[in-house]
Amino acid sequence: MKNPIVELDGDEMTRVLWALVKDRLIKPFIDLKTEYFDLSLVNRDITDDKVTVEAAHAIQTLGVGVKCATITSNAARKAEYNLKHLHPSPNATIRAILDGTVFRKPITVSLIQPSVNTWKAPIVIGRHAYGDVYKNVEMFIPDPGKVELVYTNADGVEKRALVADMPGSGVVQGIHNLDESIRSFARSCFLYAIAEKIPVWFATKDTISKTYDGRFKELFNDVYEHEFKEKCSNAKINYFYTLIDDAVARVIKGEGGFLWACKNYDGDVMSDMIASACGSLAMMTSVLVSPSGVFEYEAAHGTVQQHYYRYLKGEKTSTNPMALIFAWTGALAKRAELDNDRKLSHFAATLETASMHTVESGSMTGDLARLAQPAPEQSLNAWEFIDAVAIHLKDLL
Ligand code: NAP
Ligand code: MG
Repeated sequence: MKNPIVELDGDEMTRVLWALVKDRLIKPFIDLKTEYFDLSLVNRDITDDKVTVEAAHAIQTLGVGVKCATITSNAARKAEYNLKHLHPSPNATIRAILDGTVFRKPITVSLIQPSVNTWKAPIVIGRHAYGDVYKNVEMFIPDPGKVELVYTNADGVEKRALVADMPGSGVVQGIHNLDESIRSFARSCFLYAIAEKIPVWFATKDTISKTYDGRFKELFNDVYEHEFKEKCSNAKINYFYTLIDDAVARVIKGEGGFLWACKNYDGDVMSDMIASACGSLAMMTSVLVSPSGVFEYEAAHGTVQQHYYRYLKGEKTSTNPMALIFAWTGALAKRAELDNDRKLSHFAATLETASMHTVESGSMTGDLARLAQPAPEQSLNAWEFIDAVAIHLKDLL
């Protein structure tokens, strides 16, 4: 490797697999260079979450990061890990710094048919990664009273809107987004779609949210008309806008094979739906593409908490490392592209091929074995699976 990538280690079962993937599938084959940050919950607590911010800045500097799944703290986790504080989700912190769009694409294998039988090609989710409910301000209103939105410009001029005359207790929430972030969301989506030669769908609820979602629709369309119309036409792909309800209905009836650009919350939820329909959460890859041109790769799933507790009791769990492996190959391939490093690019592609071959030859973890046609005689635990990939990898290399 010419230049390092940023490595963000994480928690629980994915942390266990992280080390395994590195030790058995990467380090024996390449001279791995990373700048390492430990984003385990314990270390985030010790550093008052500074480690997360430093890692995000390192990604900005080096251009490529690879991240393990991390625990988002809550009251139960605070007690479990004896934490000083609750910290925001590391992904939210990183996304707030890098901005950009998260693309989620399922890894499809021939042995597993998606549960939506009309789907012929993967649906890629492009999730806007800034603002909305992920950067909200919320309040519990204990008693009757007036809730207003107040905007004050630089000259002190105010603009007000009544949210509600609350007759009793309840809740309120303020969310925002920025024109520039919405525009860069649209740009990232068109760039990705042109590179992959797949059409772009975008959907919001602009019939109800005329100003907020209406702005998303308007800006997305603006970016298309002024910056990408010709490029899309050259790439023979089209742009299609519809209402979110209509999009959901069409997704289920359609053939797939497009980029579905989603607002932040829609993308969060819909990517889990697509992943589950394609077989397993463990087969969903995720990459954050920031408008400044930096990339962070991860698996879409979490830390697989329940498997971890069983692992702590001595069980060799059948946890699927495919999306973690693809996070590494994605990051290494991007490093290779930026550094014009043919050997590294070949290694990343070969590791992906070896992983796919392993599954397609009938060696897989339990989550896939339950769905595969024909079903394998037995499923492997994570250690056995990784060793099987290593054998294919050595053969191919
Ligand atoms: P999860 O870790 O994604 O696991 C949910 C369930 O999905 C698991 O119990 C397992 O089902 C299945 N699964 C997920 N990944 C799998 C894999 N690689 N192999 C096999 N099965 C897999 O979600 P969670 O349990 O809701 O969250 C656990 C922790 O992860 C939480 O603390 C959360 O904050 C964190 N989280 C982090 C990220 C991130 O860092 N990107 C994302 C989401 C959640 P079975 O039990 O049926 O086998
Ligand atoms: Mg989610």
